[in-house]
Amino acid sequence: MISHFVPRAGFCPNCGKLADGATPAGGESSPVPGDVSICFYCGAVNQYGPKLTLEPFENWAEVCQPELVRRIALLVESILIKRGMLP
Ligand SMILES: [Zn+2]
Repeated sequence: MISHFVPRAGFCPNCGKLADGATPAGGESSPVPGDVSICFYCGAVNQYGPKLTLEPFENWAEVCQPELVRRIALLVESILIKRGMLP
């Protein structure tokens, strides 16, 4: 996996941590508008907007394909466990 610098992403809308890096879960491309982003600090599910700034993606579980929902849920759970935010 290759990590990318995303200078315009700014800060996580949920926790406020700087989110200027991205590592694709599949493929090696840099983020494009509409891509899903999961905050490494708090596990929030965000989405890149038209100018690659991060926006909350609150209805991801309803609008994403089932396989993507499953993958997102696993990544979020993993982050929350590593951060001690889940028992
Ligand atoms: Zn966050």
